[in-house]
Amino acid sequence: MEKTKCLIIGSGPAGYTAAIYASRANIDNVMYEGIQPGGQLTTTTEIENFPGFPTGIEGFDLMENMKQQAERVGSVIRSGVVTAIDLSKRPFVATIDGKDQIEAESVIIATGASAKYLGIDDEKKYSGMGVSACATCDGFFYRKKTVAVVGGGDTACEEASYLSNIAKKVYMIVRKDYLRASQAMQKRVNEKENIEILFNCNTVGLFGENGVEGAHLVRHKGTDHEEMFDIAIDGFFLAIGHRPNTAFLNGQITLDEQGYIELQGKTTATNVEGVFAAGDVADPIYRQAVSAAGMGCHAALDVQQFLMAKGLI
Ligand code: NDP
Repeated sequence: MEKTKCLIIGSGPAGYTAAIYASRANIDNVMYEGIQPGGQLTTTTEIENFPGFPTGIEGFDLMENMKQQAERVGSVIRSGVVTAIDLSKRPFVATIDGKDQIEAESVIIATGASAKYLGIDDEKKYSGMGVSACATCDGFFYRKKTVAVVGGGDTACEEASYLSNIAKKVYMIVRKDYLRASQAMQKRVNEKENIEILFNCNTVGLFGENGVEGAHLVRHKGTDHEEMFDIAIDGFFLAIGHRPNTAFLNGQITLDEQGYIELQGKTTATNVEGVFAAGDVADPIYRQAVSAAGMGCHAALDVQQFLMAKGLI
């Protein structure tokens, strides 16, 4: 069976930074990119808050740069999804795409988080037919059409303002009577004439013959003024947050009550010795590209300490 000193799972900023640091410390490492190579940033447009790019950089380009940088210093980067991993003893054994196996003395989990859905049946029914969780991926299809974005956080505001440049009209469906987003993002939304915010509203269903043609909404759900109404839309975009990608761990790593990997003190160590975590999968608070990169660096340094203490490097 193939062996590596450090298996890195996931290819966002945390995974690539860990790979760069591990390689430069002369620790042989193998990364599996996962379902979405490059991670969430490949689905955004311009990134203005990653230091070092005074005029901004496209998300896809930033991730491609990180990949090239990791490969240049010696990291082995492979497409493939870690579908299972046995963490009961060292070396750990990971299964890739349900077939190949690799043995690892240490593991860095950097699998990030995936978009949440509301959980209504119509989201599945209209999947790929008007329902999306990525405006920058699918917004193009809604030129001069009407769309709705669900959520009131920074992501929802960002998606709504992005879509407002393409679509004729954008509804934001917000369940509370205020936006949770930062003031700067709220301002951006409020300045757009073609964005209409529907406060106190929840989506109960979608309708349409061969794709989404509208949504059934309820306003003031569960109160005396509860009111059902429909809006005509061509696209329905979810922007209600993300869920950490931990299913493949099968309960072997301790998670917090929100499902994020719990870290030991100020380190990136998990409850299993030799297994570390970095980025959005272990960060319920900041969830930024630059902080994920920082955690990736910490994880590689923690791996180095661990392997040295065990006499493995
Ligand atoms: P958030 O958790 O901040 O916001 C989620 C939004 O979705 C909230 O308005 C929430 O409503 C709503 N929501 C959640 N579940 C449901 C549901 N079942 N039905 C209806 N609405 C629901 O997630 P984001 O993805 O927006 O942001 C995540 C993090 O990333 C934040 O820290 C954010 O600041 C950061 N971010 C920063 C950006 C930037 O700086 N440019 C861009 C994007 C994200 P409620 O308020 O009622 O809970």
